[in-house]
Amino acid sequence: MKREPDSLDKSTLRSAIVAGVAAVILAIVGTSWFGVYQSRQLENVGEDLAFYKDLVECRASLAALDGRLGDSERTVLQDNEIQARLVLERARFAETGRREAIRKGGQLSAWLNGEQPYQGIVSRESLGLMLIELDALVSVTSRRISTSSGIIETSLHYYLVFIVLLLSVIVLAGGRLLISNYRHSLLPLNLLAQRLTQLNRNLPESVHDTAEAASTILCDPYPSPEIRYVTESVAGLCRDIEEKNKKLDELYIRDEKTSLYNYRHFKEHLIIDVERAKRFGDSVSLAMLDIDFFKHYNDAYGHIAGDRVLARMAAIIREQCRVTDIPSRFGGEEFAILFPKTSPEMSFEISERLRQIIAAEPFDHERRQPGGQLTVSIGIATWPDDAADWYSLINNADHALYEAKELGRNRVVAFVPNKTEPEPA
Ligand code: GH3
Ligand code: MG
Ligand code: MG
Repeated sequence: MKREPDSLDKSTLRSAIVAGVAAVILAIVGTSWFGVYQSRQLENVGEDLAFYKDLVECRASLAALDGRLGDSERTVLQDNEIQARLVLERARFAETGRREAIRKGGQLSAWLNGEQPYQGIVSRESLGLMLIELDALVSVTSRRISTSSGIIETSLHYYLVFIVLLLSVIVLAGGRLLISNYRHSLLPLNLLAQRLTQLNRNLPESVHDTAEAASTILCDPYPSPEIRYVTESVAGLCRDIEEKNKKLDELYIRDEKTSLYNYRHFKEHLIIDVERAKRFGDSVSLAMLDIDFFKHYNDAYGHIAGDRVLARMAAIIREQCRVTDIPSRFGGEEFAILFPKTSPEMSFEISERLRQIIAAEPFDHERRQPGGQLTVSIGIATWPDDAADWYSLINNADHALYEAKELGRNRVVAFVPNKTEPEPA
């Protein structure tokens, strides 16, 4: 039964695709933004760390000078050294922005900006105050560094959670897509491939089954358009092959001129029916028909007219036969009719009726035939009474036919076993 397309399935698939694409876009945009944000944060922390390092080194250097300033017997050379040291230490903070971070109005700010009285050697008291300010600055910078590091760490955590969530969405959407692809494409394709492999192995027998399997796939609402197209092509191909096979089968078993069964099919049936009769204790009758003086008819009116007579006689034979009988053209102007499960009496009755109908049929030009009409002679033999096998059944029906001719034609003669020629010594 044909099902309605599963709209719920289609809408969830569409939602999965939208969610997956949105997640991918968000992941790309989020990662780019986070990269920029993190690099800025890291740059700031780097600057703070360099500042912190300079502060610590400067503090250590100034602490060392503190001892030397305590020496009251300093030489001019030593003063110059102290002065040079101070200039060098001040140069650490020449970089833009660094001095701004230092509190205005303090000893440190005045020293760094070269204000009076810091143009020369600073006093020990000023140095002490500068050291205190430096300590405060070191601890402020250190706190700022740890705060920035904390922000970087927290934002990294948030970013990881964000990415994991998006990855989950992408994986779920991808999974949904894979399942859908499996159901819509791989599964029907696999089924089709199996059928085609079987078809390849066993062409005539599997054509019908493959067409059926293809129809089943088409009844399912799931196949993708491509699979649907391929399946429809395969189904069409199978139906075409099936139809042509039927025609071929017909051609294989039919006689072209009369459309009766040909000798090949008749012989196959005869062998099978005799074997079946042997097994089930039935009887099989065979009637051999030959048109009387047909050569005369052909010679007088030509073979085309003769062929018309053959076709009309074949039609009469077919009309008079039962569905289970096998009416065939034996060859030339001879016909053979196989009557499965039929007694000699019954086959005689059918044959006699057939002879009378043919004799009564108004054929073209038949008045010019000997006897004034076209007639047939018929010989009958029945298995098992008249023959031991299919071959002698034909022979004995032929003997009976010969006798019908001998007795004057236009008659039915049943084979009589005693009348056969004596066995060779
Ligand atoms: P009989 O009464 O003894 O059977 O005489 P007959 O002339 O029919 O002799 P026979 O059975 O030997 O006839 C064979 C003739 O059948 C020869 C040939 O002209 C004719 N015949 C055989 N096959 C065909 C055919 O396919 N078409 C036509 N038109 N004639 C055929
Ligand atoms: Mg003949
Ligand atoms: Mg004949």
